[in-house]
Amino acid sequence: MTNESLHLVCPHCDATNRLLRARLDEGAKCGKCKRPLFTAQALVLTHANFHQHIARSDIPVVVDFWAPWCGPCKMMAPIFEQAAAQLEPQARLAKLNTEAEQGIASEFGIRSIPTLIIFRKGQEIARQSGAMDLSALVRWVRSHLA
Ligand SMILES: [Zn+2]
Repeated sequence: MTNESLHLVCPHCDATNRLLRARLDEGAKCGKCKRPLFTAQALVLTHANFHQHIARSDIPVVVDFWAPWCGPCKMMAPIFEQAAAQLEPQARLAKLNTEAEQGIASEFGIRSIPTLIIFRKGQEIARQSGAMDLSALVRWVRSHLA
């Protein structure tokens, strides 16, 4: 189990890294850009890196689909950052601006925001619409970590 290796996508340079699961908690760094693989911050996704992070990552990726004009999204933004600090390295938290990236929003049929989707190896495993507080968000993500 602890010898299992995982693919992790670097939040800085989008390179795919291979790492032993047992080393996840040891402040692992990217083999390419040498920066930390986890920064306790939500990663900003665009069309340029979205599919790379969703499909190549062996840890679940939780995406917050938001928009600048959405009040509840703004309220949730700092909560989402706090959740990143609590859920890393078991999950990667990321956000997608649906206003700037309408193609991806329509690919996933985002009709209301905020919408949160948990992806595991490229597959959607859970979806939740509407803002959540920190404890509800962390509990919801943990309930889908296996
Ligand atoms: Zn890197």
